[in-house]
Amino acid sequence: SEERQRRLRQPIVAVLGHVDHGKTTLLDKIRGTTVAAKEPGQITQHVGASLVPSNVIEKVTEPLKKLIPTVKLELPGLLFIDTPGHEIFTNLRKRGGAVADLAILVVDIMEGFQPQTYEAVEILKQRKVPFIVAANKVDRIPGWRPNPDQPILISMRKQDPSVIEFMDNQIYKIMGELAKMGFDSDRFDRIKNYTRQIAIVPISAKTGEGVPELLALLAGLAQRFMKGKLKYVEGPAKGVVMEVKEEPGYGSTIDTIIYDGIIKQGDTIVVGGIEEPIVTKVRALLIPEPLQEIRATKRFRAVDEVSAAAGVKIVAPGLDKAVAGAPIYVVEREEDLEKIKEQVKKEVEEVLIETDAEGVIVKADTLGTLEALVQFLRSRNIPVRMARVGPVTKRDVMEAIAVKRHKKEYGVILAFNVKVLPEAKELAEKEGIKIFQHNVIYKLIEDFEEWLNKLKE
Ligand code: GDP
Ligand code: MG
Repeated sequence: SEERQRRLRQPIVAVLGHVDHGKTTLLDKIRGTTVAAKEPGQITQHVGASLVPSNVIEKVTEPLKKLIPTVKLELPGLLFIDTPGHEIFTNLRKRGGAVADLAILVVDIMEGFQPQTYEAVEILKQRKVPFIVAANKVDRIPGWRPNPDQPILISMRKQDPSVIEFMDNQIYKIMGELAKMGFDSDRFDRIKNYTRQIAIVPISAKTGEGVPELLALLAGLAQRFMKGKLKYVEGPAKGVVMEVKEEPGYGSTIDTIIYDGIIKQGDTIVVGGIEEPIVTKVRALLIPEPLQEIRATKRFRAVDEVSAAAGVKIVAPGLDKAVAGAPIYVVEREEDLEKIKEQVKKEVEEVLIETDAEGVIVKADTLGTLEALVQFLRSRNIPVRMARVGPVTKRDVMEAIAVKRHKKEYGVILAFNVKVLPEAKELAEKEGIKIFQHNVIYKLIEDFEEWLNKLKE
């Protein structure tokens, strides 16, 4: 079965949800459970991700075998993206979609849908990422009797009927919100068709109840419905830049998720930059030192090669000009270099907008957030004149001034997670150009729409 496992790669799983709904706690729980269940030497640390190998998933889901039909795992495991947050998720992009194969939408069962939950669902919809809902914090339901690390199906049997009624009511509310956004859903044990309905799993990231079902469902869904997408490819690596970071002792580095193929030390790579593609040679591939190594003084150790799916830090000259959300490709044959450079350039330019249209000016910190923001605006029929990565400059203000002359309502700047340069601010104030700033996409658009409505009154 070693041979069989080689044929599929680990699905890449992202965790999204409103702040404080339990994303970090869930990941810690999954990691903690796996640390407890693992056999020595099997935990693999990744940069920005944690790999949960299949034998660990099997152990955690073992108690389920008596309750529901479980599938034999052919997947080598699940790669969970560690840094939850919309910014990270939006950067996990590739042309026409997402690098994440699956997602967990965490919703606090007591609070239900909140602004960032809606935002997360919209982004998942835009990028066509299948997801499961983790209705978290069931232990906070009044009267709940905790059953640590047990399947939720077992824990549910041990609750009073009134407690289950309360839980189901909260789940109906979540189903209602999902329905408004175009998704059919149900409690996971009532689902008839997993390709059409979204499963809602009641869990507690704190006590671990329901985590066996969550992992089993993720693995089952990936295995049953996306095998084609998970075929392991032997070729040169394809990946995406998650973050660009200055690292003491290494200089500029990029944290990447590799979703296809192999990358080796010494490889020539092409990475998307704002001005033009960066062509460079991999000086080092870094992965975190295992946490168990108490006496480890260094944070990273170098490896010769990494294969998909993986999270790895790449050290190479010139990477300070790379941009998060941009593609990275390994060049296997010298003669392919120009073609790949052209492709990377095209892929970056597809996200940037430069027109004479009467529309708003959009600035964002990364390619991923810019793309998500522009798609949000499009879905609301708000035209975009210019969309670029970087701080708000005087030029942006001048563009907005040009728009304002003909279309007052669109002569504005929407800035996501970027600075406004002093001379831009000065000019905007003088000319009465409004600059909207926020680090939640949803809020940024809401602020703008509120202003629009006031203007129309
Ligand atoms: P994040 O912002 O989505 O990453 O949320 P956190 O994981 O940081 O959780 C926010 C707060 O909720 C923390 O105080 C957690 O301890 C708490 N929390 C998370 N999951 C649960 C849960 O299942 N039950 C309870 N009672 N508290 C939880
Ligand atoms: Mg968190």
